[in-house]
Amino acid sequence: MKKMYLLAGLSLLAAPLFAQRTLIHCGNLLDGVSNNLQPQMTVVVEGNKITAVQKGYTTPAGQDRVLDMKSKTVLPGLIDMHVHLESQTRRGGAIDGFTKNQADIAYQAAQYAKTTLMAGFTTVRDLGGSGVNVSLRNAINAGLVDGPRVLTVGKSIATTGGHADPTNGYRKDLMGDPGPMEGVINGPEDARKAVRQRYKDGSDLIKITATGGVLSNAKDGSGAQFTEEEVKAVVDAAKDYGFPVAAHAHGAEGMKRAIRAGVQTIEHGTLMDDEAIELFKKHGTYYVPTIIAGKTAADSARHFGYYPALVTPKALAIGPKIQATFAKAYKAGVKIAFGTDAGVYIHGYNAKEFEYMVEAGMPPIEAIKAALMTNAKLLGMDAQIGSIETGKMADIIAVAENPIQNIKTLQTVQFVMKDGKVYKQ
Ligand SMILES: [Zn+2]
Repeated sequence: MKKMYLLAGLSLLAAPLFAQRTLIHCGNLLDGVSNNLQPQMTVVVEGNKITAVQKGYTTPAGQDRVLDMKSKTVLPGLIDMHVHLESQTRRGGAIDGFTKNQADIAYQAAQYAKTTLMAGFTTVRDLGGSGVNVSLRNAINAGLVDGPRVLTVGKSIATTGGHADPTNGYRKDLMGDPGPMEGVINGPEDARKAVRQRYKDGSDLIKITATGGVLSNAKDGSGAQFTEEEVKAVVDAAKDYGFPVAAHAHGAEGMKRAIRAGVQTIEHGTLMDDEAIELFKKHGTYYVPTIIAGKTAADSARHFGYYPALVTPKALAIGPKIQATFAKAYKAGVKIAFGTDAGVYIHGYNAKEFEYMVEAGMPPIEAIKAALMTNAKLLGMDAQIGSIETGKMADIIAVAENPIQNIKTLQTVQFVMKDGKVYKQ
């Protein structure tokens, strides 16, 4: 009797000899490596890791827990390379910069993060906010907030008056003169300082706004806004910290400067011409299309007063073009990553982008894989995420139908596990 008490006491202190396994019985498994679905498979999860992938439905033993997904297709957690978790589009939202405190932004960001995770996106790259996104990432990692794994730029880097200058459109006495600390640079010296400030802030990578943008309260939506020398300085400084650089670009000239200077990804890419396409291929630069953001911005602009007067014509001109650009780029052999610009549309609809990619001529399996291993590699996390393989983190989702036959099934994700923990079932 005494001995039993002793053993029971010990088991509270020490890790159990046999960790509890979770056996996920998958009707179909899309593992992110093979192009084909594998029927009747079992994914074994222990702690936060996938420890085996087995043929057939493995019989549970001892403490094993079974998750019955026999009627579903199981696939790796999706990855979105372009979200903004701090904000979400709404009519007249331009005022928010004057009325919302950081705490207000933090609470809404927590909600958007949860929505994103529930939509099956277990990892995201946050391409710019005020910097609350750094705290959000930390809160998610600490288990305080439910959300996807976040890699964030903190605040985007712009030039004076450029897309992501935080004081664009302000009354003159409120504009001030933001500098590298606020992510606004003029010249290579500033560029280096802004990158180092992001490092100090705790960012994971760098974003620049190489051209004008649609939603900034400024006239030009596509012209080049960085000199090539400035982009080069950003890229070089970023290298010292192991930061890849993402470049927002609509117009061709700014895009070309950014590609030549060595950025990793071009976001939107709306007005890319043949010369830009050649540069993408020559430099191995990835294209992150964000078709859904373009379509949504154009739709919203048709409602009077939704955006400020300077924004409306840009949204109408640029927004509808992205899908055709994507079709052209894909056909020409430009490397495609999956990203949506969530926040420019309502969070949680990220998987609609798959439908638009397929509509534009990309085979479903390629669109899905863009959001898996392609993105995982770009994030430098291909050893941890992006596929269902032994040794990887247990980021696993399930949908009702075969997504290769019906890509829309990804828009209603029914099961979400991140890092071995079930969030939706
Ligand atoms: Zn964006």
